[in-house]
Amino acid sequence: MDKQRRKQIVIAGGGITGLSTAYYVEQLCRAHAIEAEIVLVEKSDRFGGHVHTGKKDGFVIERGPDSFLARKTSIIELMQELGIGDDIVGTRPGISHSYIAYRNQLHPIPDGFMLGVPTKWKPFLTTKLISVRGKVRAAADLVLPRKSNVEDESLGQLLRRRLGDEVLEQIAEPLLAGIYAGNADALSVQATFPMLQETEQKHRSLIVGMLGVRKSRAPKQTTQSSQTTSKTTNKSTSKTGSGNGSGSTSTVKKSMFLSARGGLEEVVTHLEKSLSSSINMMKNTEISGVTHEGERYVVHLHNGTKLHADAMVIATPAHVAARLLPDESISKLLQTIPYASVMNVVLAYREQDVGISLEASGFVVPRKEGRTVTACTWTSSKWAHTAPEGHILLRAYVGKYGQENDDQLSDEKLVHHVRRELEEMMGISAEPIFTEVNRLPDAMPQYKVGHLERMQDLDDALATVMPGVYLGGGGYRGIGVPDCISQGKAMANKLLTRLIDMA
Ligand SMILES: Cc1cc2nc3c(=O)[nH]c(=O)nc-3n(C[C@H](O)[C@H](O)[C@H](O)COP(=O)(O)OP(=O)(O)OC[C@H]3O[C@@H](n4cnc5c(N)ncnc54)[C@H](O)[C@@H]3O)c2cc1C
Repeated sequence: MDKQRRKQIVIAGGGITGLSTAYYVEQLCRAHAIEAEIVLVEKSDRFGGHVHTGKKDGFVIERGPDSFLARKTSIIELMQELGIGDDIVGTRPGISHSYIAYRNQLHPIPDGFMLGVPTKWKPFLTTKLISVRGKVRAAADLVLPRKSNVEDESLGQLLRRRLGDEVLEQIAEPLLAGIYAGNADALSVQATFPMLQETEQKHRSLIVGMLGVRKSRAPKQTTQSSQTTSKTTNKSTSKTGSGNGSGSTSTVKKSMFLSARGGLEEVVTHLEKSLSSSINMMKNTEISGVTHEGERYVVHLHNGTKLHADAMVIATPAHVAARLLPDESISKLLQTIPYASVMNVVLAYREQDVGISLEASGFVVPRKEGRTVTACTWTSSKWAHTAPEGHILLRAYVGKYGQENDDQLSDEKLVHHVRRELEEMMGISAEPIFTEVNRLPDAMPQYKVGHLERMQDLDDALATVMPGVYLGGGGYRGIGVPDCISQGKAMANKLLTRLIDMA
């Protein structure tokens, strides 16, 4: 091989994972004085993938993710490096609760729920969401023995075993599995909420273990929590602040979820700007396959041209990667990651037309309610930057794994169903100023039981069959935007190591 030749890196997929990989590998190559030609190939006409913000009449509309967990700092560090650290905003102060829909009514999530586990007796005993029998069953967690092995199991299996069906179905599943648009009985607990399994192993009782966690966090944080993302829960504990909730340092510091003042796509546009002079960024370019060429790879494009790669990252969804890679065993492993198709309906109102107070971050809907809407974020209550003064912005979510029939509905019918359900559950009958339907086919990866083991098998198979090819993104090791950025950083390091080894 020609050791003097400029090394070539191809990154497939220009979502947040592909962009972050490009950003970090470009920095690493510069720092190590490695001459490399980096190409980022994106199928669509824009970068960012699911990170997609729209702006209309003063509203900031997130079509995919709307926020990130403050404790996952990779995105904060990235935004600071990109010079947009000051644009990080926290949730509006005082919006500290959310609801669960039950029989046409919204009930507050009982205070003290953490990862679906009750840690405060009074709110739990008085909630109408769980029957007396269900409450007694949940208390059995205090005496039940711990599971004897630490094999992976489903989130549903673990919570049903410890707390009973009702707590799972009425509270935990919509809050936790809802993040993945998933089914709790199929999602791997180790890949989604490993803390639950760790708590059982350490404390036997989830209630006792979570109570300890809550006390150790007090007084900063008090109630139910989520692992990666949250459609509706909002744990800003600030009772003071700037008034509008966004931007003030104290609010940002106290907020459990954060976002960007101009919408999350701000991160994408700044990444794009910082990369455009140093790497080759190709939009409207679809990759159709990857083949071997000695120690290198040939990347085939739909337009008939080819790129060559000494090392490459595939940051497309797993089902696309399965089609691109030539090895059957790798493709089969990739096909074990199913994706749910989801939609969301954005509704904008004049406050005066709605006539009810929306002092919460929204609500989730248990599967048993049999509704089209799976959750609704009261976006403008949660995020001050998303609506002009005197206006309200809501986002209703539709579709989850195994419940995707509504994607056959026309936009008109979908909006009709969503408005009818919002009227039944929230009492809003006003005519919206505008609505927007966002369809996201095959968008939410499902980490099924055994996911982490399969990821290890995938890494091992790639290292043997296609050394120098790395896979990353929401489908693999963390669905949240900060997880994708961390994966991008980790893959950039692997790309660098590969280039150094080849030199
Ligand atoms: C509705 C929704 C809400 C969410 N909410 C949150 C949230 O609030 N907070 C949070 O942290 N996370 C959230 N997530 C998760 C998070 O947004 C995603 O996990 C993350 O954006 C995935 O990024 P990615 O780069 O891995 O993949 P993607 O965004 O899917 O990007 C992959 C890219 O690959 C491109 N591509 C596909 N095929 C090819 C090909 N053949 N050739 C070239 N390019 C190709 C695609 O066009 C796309 O741009 C949400 C996700 C969804 C769908």
